[in-house]
Amino acid sequence: MASAIHPSVDNGIQKGADNFAGGTLRCQCAHDPVEVRVDSQVAFNHACGCTKCWKPEGALFSVVGVVSRDKLTVTAHAEKLKVVDAQAVIQRHACTVCGTHLYGRIENKDHPFYGLDFIHTELSKETGWDGPGFAAFVSSIIESGTPPSTMAEVRQTLRNKGLEPYDCLSPALMDILATHAAKAKGTYREA
Ligand SMILES: [Zn+2]
Ligand SMILES: [Zn+2]
Repeated sequence: MASAIHPSVDNGIQKGADNFAGGTLRCQCAHDPVEVRVDSQVAFNHACGCTKCWKPEGALFSVVGVVSRDKLTVTAHAEKLKVVDAQAVIQRHACTVCGTHLYGRIENKDHPFYGLDFIHTELSKETGWDGPGFAAFVSSIIESGTPPSTMAEVRQTLRNKGLEPYDCLSPALMDILATHAAKAKGTYREA
């Protein structure tokens, strides 16, 4: 049986709709949900196997992508939000009642991804979000209890869904990180 990756992968990956302008993310509280309005399409959406990203019950991976932080606004029940781990590079703002992560923010201005917020588009009812395009930190699912012997099958399932599995970030994102590091070191060169 194919591994259950995440509902938005298992049920068929959606492609982003043209001119899609965003939507509202809601936590899973039945009453007074936290609401976060996002005024843009998501970028670099991907399946993530790390142990820090929020994932729905039963899923091996989270699905997470980025938006510019100036496109994200908490519009209801901000008082229910709390940072999960203030020491983490990405500060994940979670609902203190249901545990859902509404957005992750990088506060370190020197970080290459500063200015981007991490979101889970499945928390929005709107359709038109761009689905995941690759899988990151795949080996890390072992840390949340996946038997190492099943990893070949998991990677094959990801490939069958069109998601290339990487054990860090995708090449495009790793190149952005290395470019930032090269500029900081003074070793950066144009072609
Ligand atoms: Zn909640
Ligand atoms: Zn993650």
